[in-house]
Amino acid sequence: MFSKGLSFLTRALFPQRCLQCNAVLSILEQSLCQFCLSSAPQLDSIAGQRTMLLSSTLPTDRPTSFRSALYFTGSVQIFCYSLKYGNNYPLGLVLGNHFLSPLILTTVAGQRRPVVVTAIPVNLWRRFKRGYNQSEALARGALRGVRKADVDVHFVELLQKTSRRKSQINFDVFHRWHNTKGAFRATKKKRVPKDALIFIIDDTVTTGSSLLRAAEAVLQAYPNAEVHLLALAQEL
Ligand SMILES: [Zn+2]
Repeated sequence: MFSKGLSFLTRALFPQRCLQCNAVLSILEQSLCQFCLSSAPQLDSIAGQRTMLLSSTLPTDRPTSFRSALYFTGSVQIFCYSLKYGNNYPLGLVLGNHFLSPLILTTVAGQRRPVVVTAIPVNLWRRFKRGYNQSEALARGALRGVRKADVDVHFVELLQKTSRRKSQINFDVFHRWHNTKGAFRATKKKRVPKDALIFIIDDTVTTGSSLLRAAEAVLQAYPNAEVHLLALAQEL
């Protein structure tokens, strides 16, 4: 209660501004104003279907899906850059809550099943340099939105990097695909409810190979799981 009052006072004295349009944020807003959030370029249905097709390559006979919320362009590039390199963990919570939780809720709709959310891991050195894993920030933001809908949802660290792989930035499509082979393994067995829906979250996708490799690792450890893949932004 005291800290809430204190943060209200701090916000009144030092108002926060929107990362994109620089407007003063209301006490209920964080990092981005409602206008900038609602005007972010959402993936259209044709691009969405193309991304969805990627999930059909997964070795599972359970339902699965692969979705991105936004196009990685203009303002979204700024959001992603700030999340990754700008020491802006709260932005991840906002973006995850606003863009990813609705995608989880549409998948869960009508089912009373537990939901597990996990994130693409970064290697320890990057995590140390950034202070956090940007995909986990998105996942924890998504968790907040899903919880509000009264769904039984938990964050569980299911994946780890196998080694310090080269950054994908300078790779073409073929080499990106190849570079992610064996990039992840499942962490030591965690308690995952048998009938849980597992959502794996990444910040940006290009070929989708990282998320697919991560899903393969999860399916190897939890062969009966229902795995769904979510990214904040789709590179063109
Ligand atoms: Zn704004």
